[in-house]
Amino acid sequence: MNLLDVESLVAGHGLLTAVRHVSFGVAEGAALAVVGANGAGKTTLFRTISGVHRAQSGRVLLAGDDVSALSAPKRVAAGIAMVPEGRRLFGDMSVRENLQVAGEHGRAGPWNLGRVVEALPALAPIMDRPAGVLSGGQRQAVAIGRALMCNPSVLLLDEVSLGLSPIAGEGVYRSLSQLRDAGTTMVLVEQDLDRALAFADRIVCMLEGRIVLEGESGAVTRADVTAAYFGLDATSEEPA
Ligand code: ATP
Repeated sequence: MNLLDVESLVAGHGLLTAVRHVSFGVAEGAALAVVGANGAGKTTLFRTISGVHRAQSGRVLLAGDDVSALSAPKRVAAGIAMVPEGRRLFGDMSVRENLQVAGEHGRAGPWNLGRVVEALPALAPIMDRPAGVLSGGQRQAVAIGRALMCNPSVLLLDEVSLGLSPIAGEGVYRSLSQLRDAGTTMVLVEQDLDRALAFADRIVCMLEGRIVLEGESGAVTRADVTAAYFGLDATSEEPA
């Protein structure tokens, strides 16, 4: 059985339908990458799975249980945690306080302050610094740690390396690799195709709200994904 199932999800903004009958499943411990051009519907999809945005139709199942009717906080309590794009943190609060506050809203489970710092060692030297003064890579590590403090069974990560230097981005992905090795189930939006293909077990590509390509990372080529990304025939040339 999959840990997360998304069934024919439809969501939009006013008259605009941004997510059109999207379905996929994620096995426990697996990492799925969602790629697609700007405006393809990835953020709306994630916000709908996490319950921040209301679905027009379709279902979200967590370990077989339909969580579609639950509010966002109740979905966090059920085990779905999202690391949003832009990594909103409480800037005046220390890293430790940011993590502790998150821990008050999640489930009981193995993740606590000590384990999070062990899994994300970059946090250790900055625990007492205000989140507002941190670098982009450090803030992202705090945002991931904050989601872990909710003891999620599924972690949704929206463009976690966006805007980071290559070195900071690598640091974030090193942390994610450690989490994956520890058995964390992840769904991530990643603009960098090479990174998505290298990290995830499976990949789905969205175009104009629909999934246009889905496969094992080892079974799809970069050219396949690029063609799907731009809505081209896979046999045509890659755009420059
Ligand atoms: P990006 O990588 O730019 O974040 P995305 O794939 O995450 O893109 P979404 O942000 O989900 O895509 O946007 C999907 C569509 O919904 C786009 O046409 C976008 O303009 C529209 N949209 C997104 N948020 C809103 C909003 N709050 N109000 C109105 N339209 C929106």
